[in-house]
Amino acid sequence: LMENQIRHHLVLIPPPFHGHLTPMLQLASILHSKGFSITIAHTYFNSPNPSNYPNFNFLPYFDGLSNTQITSKNFIDITSTLNTKCVSPLKETLVHYIAKLANEKHEKIACIIYDGLLHFIDSVAKELKIPSIVFRTTSATNFLTYHACAQLQSKGYLPLQDSKSCDLVPELDLLRFKDLPIFNLPNPDDFLQNSAKTLSITPFGVIFNTVDSLEDSSLNQLQQLYKVNIFPIGPLHMIADDSNNSQSILRENHNCISWLNNKARKSVLYVSLGSIASWEEKELTEVACGLANSKQNFLWVIRPETVKDVSAWLQSLSEDVKVGIAERGCVVKWAPQGEVLAHEAVGGFWSHCGWNSTLESLCEGVPIICQPSFGDQRVNTRLLSHVWKVGLEWCNVILRDEIERVVRRLMVNQEGEEMRQRASELKHEIRLAVNGSSCDALDGLVKCILSVNV
Ligand code: UDP
Repeated sequence: LMENQIRHHLVLIPPPFHGHLTPMLQLASILHSKGFSITIAHTYFNSPNPSNYPNFNFLPYFDGLSNTQITSKNFIDITSTLNTKCVSPLKETLVHYIAKLANEKHEKIACIIYDGLLHFIDSVAKELKIPSIVFRTTSATNFLTYHACAQLQSKGYLPLQDSKSCDLVPELDLLRFKDLPIFNLPNPDDFLQNSAKTLSITPFGVIFNTVDSLEDSSLNQLQQLYKVNIFPIGPLHMIADDSNNSQSILRENHNCISWLNNKARKSVLYVSLGSIASWEEKELTEVACGLANSKQNFLWVIRPETVKDVSAWLQSLSEDVKVGIAERGCVVKWAPQGEVLAHEAVGGFWSHCGWNSTLESLCEGVPIICQPSFGDQRVNTRLLSHVWKVGLEWCNVILRDEIERVVRRLMVNQEGEEMRQRASELKHEIRLAVNGSSCDALDGLVKCILSVNV
């Protein structure tokens, strides 16, 4: 590819959140395999471990986060601080780095690829006269909702009278008002301001971790609206060749794989709400009872911050639930999710429907019980249930009887069996895209970066 021996240098800039960092690092390894030199510019908070990525350079920049913010783990607060406080620190760091690259390696930065959450980087790149491309770690359909919200606001429709409305949003025909991300946030106004900022930028391209055939109508709509290059390159975890070298915030428990090895085909429900969402303690007890009463096998991730002492909490449950968990359950703090979903014993996933979990499940043909909580999770739920028909849009009332019922719907009933069938068809479709549409989009991206750097 790089016939002329010039190595083009790319700087990739992820925000410090697990669900964003992982796909950015996957994208980085894909671009590295295409011949680019890679630098990951990152905050000190939640920084990736360089020793896991010997092929990349790492460039920390001052993040301006206070200890209180770091311990609060407030996603929105952290993002907005980064967007306001990091402009100068990042610029200065990059200026030094550019000089260093020029002196030591005779390289220059061909392009900055930054996560769409960090919209401040647009102006930094412009000032440094470096081309930039936005990377979105959520679905294309979710990105369209930002556009729709900005439209609704400009037409004076916001705030809505009824945020639970099941009416369809104009121009987003498959989504209802209640699916829009703004209604799941503590401060919709801030979000709208930021979404407007995000939308006002005109990067010369946008990369999505998605598959053309899954989201063709949203991708087309975006193309029409923005007239920029759109690169649907996904699922990144399938394209990157270092999938077992993924960034993990917690030590993965591999005993659960031996546990799965002893379970019948498609008999286990995998239960996890990703890296941020969680159940409250009283809900946790309902989940335990519901799972035990469903009489199905389950592998359940309870992250350490969800409950102080998991063993003590498990001991406090009633005798029959304890027996149910001991006989059919396996509880871990963090699972090797890719391996779990690929395991033949797994037949269903109870998920918060984060975009990474959604894609990982689709790639393995595992249907989902959808329990969305914030951000894009409702949009993903709607896609899973209404468009791809591999997800149960569940009422999300965390009561044991409701849980028992929905688990049996997915794991035992005909309805669930049909979804598993459909999921397995989608799995093949997605796998074809890895060497098809996603591969073409990747080549398009590489050409695009090279063409602005001749
Ligand atoms: N994950 C994991 N082990 C777990 C739970 C989650 O490896 O026990 C990974 C999962 O594979 C996914 C990521 O954490 O890649 C969660 O990302 P997602 O976008 O689904 O949700 P978020 O955590 O951003 O809400």
